[in-house]
Parts: sequence; C-alpha cells; structure tokens
Amino acid sequence: MSLSLQCPSCGKEAAEASPICRRCHSDLALLFTIKRQSIVARRQAIRDLRSDRLEACLENCESSWQQCPTGEAAQIGYLAAILQKDPVLVLKWDKRSSGRTNQPAS
Ligand SMILES: [Zn+2]
Repeated sequence: MSLSLQCPSCGKEAAEASPICRRCHSDLALLFTIKRQSIVARRQAIRDLRSDRLEACLENCESSWQQCPTGEAAQIGYLAAILQKDPVLVLKWDKRSSGRTNQPAS
C-alpha cells in the first residue's frame, strides 16, 4: 500500500517512499505514519462490522477519524451506529459523513 498526501506547507503532492517534500523540504514522515494508522484502524473497523463487533467497530472508526477524518470512516461509523440502535451516535456519524462537522451546534 503506497500512500500519498498533500504537503500542508506548500500543497505539493508527496509519496511515502520519499517523505521529505520535494518543493519545501518539510519532513512529512509523521503525517504518513498517522495516515497509515488511520487506514489500519478503518480496515479493522470493517472487519469488526462484518463480525458484528459493533463496540469495537465504533472504537476503531473513532480512532481512524481522529487520526484522519475521512468519509469512509464516517460511513462505517454511521452503519455501526444504526446497527447498534444508538440515535446519538447515528446523528454524530451522520454529521461527520456529510461533512457538517465544522458548523456550530444548533
Ligand atoms: Zn511542501
């Protein structure tokens, strides 16, 4: 699995194989580590969901989301929250999956 990300300093695309930004020379190694951990947690969440381990699934979704907030993590969390019949969690993950997390709570 080869990862890429955008350098937060200058916006240039960087590959994990050479984690020093080619444009501005920022060290992006830690960002790649975080992104990889986020993906590992998300994959574990999918396995948990398939095996009906909803608590573990939601924990892994949260971990993945905290490290790298992706739509995929939010969608898995949303599904797990529905299956767990927890309306508060359903709303939380629904907001995250539709990108409304930055709006003030009403
Ligand atoms: Zn850069």
